[in-house]
Parts: sequence; structure tokens; C-alpha cells
Amino acid sequence: MNKVASITILVPVYNEALVLPELFKRLEIISNEATLKINILFVDDGSTDDTPIIIDKIIKGKENYSAIFLSRNFGHPMALSAGLAHIKDSADAVFIIDGDLQDPPELIWQFLDKMNEGYDVVYGIRKNRKEGFVKKICYKLYYRLLRRFSNIKIPLDAGDFALLHKRVVNELNNLPEESRFLRGLRSWIGFRQVGLEYERDIRK
Ligand code: UDP
Ligand code: MG
Repeated sequence: MNKVASITILVPVYNEALVLPELFKRLEIISNEATLKINILFVDDGSTDDTPIIIDKIIKGKENYSAIFLSRNFGHPMALSAGLAHIKDSADAVFIIDGDLQDPPELIWQFLDKMNEGYDVVYGIRKNRKEGFVKKICYKLYYRLLRRFSNIKIPLDAGDFALLHKRVVNELNNLPEESRFLRGLRSWIGFRQVGLEYERDIRK
């Protein structure tokens, strides 16, 4: 299997003006240390704060940054779908992260190493959440109920934080579902999949 030579980092953002400067700083470090082509695509999900203005400033004059601006707030799943549809097969792989830095973007290299071992989907497994007790219990319960009542094996404690090979992106883009639960469809779609444990940070 050919090694991954280009990755687009897909970042959906909704009212993240306060965190964008730090996000940009960390993405810049990743791009600069990369030995492969890194592009960054922001999907502004109808933000009502200064997010679109800041994104405009960030991407201006930088050929590896781009953005799409949705016409209203459609919600995180739709923002991801719009991003994947926009990227199509323009990159060998798509790295999906949250804009609020709960998913550390620096883990990209570990995800990439796994993919280069021959996996098509590398997804993050939340090992330890830095959240309050009640929230933690709710999350635990949610993933276990979901697994109990679903007839596909959705991995426990795995969100949308993942590196997807373009083979998988293409198939996800071909699915007819309008309302998408990406981590479920991702489990359903097959291919070679593996989980990587990580510490989920608190919302910046
Ligand atoms: N987000 C989005 N549209 C929304 C809500 C959130 O694009 O309607 C983005 C948000 O900016 C963040 C990511 O989706 O980058 C995850 O959202 P959030 O942090 O609210 O989810 P949680 O961490 O609670 O799973
Ligand atoms: Mg979050």
C-alpha cells in the first residue's frame, strides 16, 4: 500500500473566536514540521461571533489554508459532511479534529504512523476525560447504551476524531444519509479500522 503523501485537516468551528489564535498557532507548528503536504480546511458552521472574520484573516495569502462558510448553523455532523464533500479525494487522508482543541492536533503523526501500517481508519479512543463527574458518567452511559442497542459494533468512547483514508472519504461521500452520525457510519462502512487511545483535553 502506498504511504500517505498528503493530509487535509478538517476543522468544523462554531463560535470559536477565542480559541482560533491558539488553534492556528498549533496548526502552523504541525504544517511547518511536516514532511508531507498538509492542508487545513475550516468549516465555519454559521458562527455569530468573530469566527468568520478571524478565519478570513488566517487563510488570507496562505495557499495551504482554506475555508467554507455555511449559510447558517447546521450542527457539527452537517459541518463535517460539508467538509468531507468539499475535500473529496484531493488529499490521501483527512484528519478530523474539533476546533476547541479538545482533540490534540499534534497526535496527527501517531495517527499517520498507524495508517501507514495499513489501516484505512484510525480513530481516537478517549482514555481519560478531563470533565466533571456527572458529565463523565453521562458519556460512559451514552456509548454503552449506543453499543447495546446498535447492531453494528460502534467502538466505546470513540468520537469523530479520526484519520480517514480517501478510500473511506469517498465511500462516506457516496452515502445518501442526510442526517449523519459520522462515528456510526464510519464503524458501519467497513475497511481496516483501529483505535488509538488519547487524553481528551478540556474545552479551551
Ligand atoms: N461545532 C459545529 N457546529 C455546531 C456545534 C459545534 O461545527 O453546531 C464544532 C465546534 O466548534 C467544535 C466541534 O464542532 O469544533 C465540537 O463541538 P463541541 O465542542 O460543542 O462538542 P463536544 O466537545 O461537546 O463533543
Ligand atoms: Mg468540545
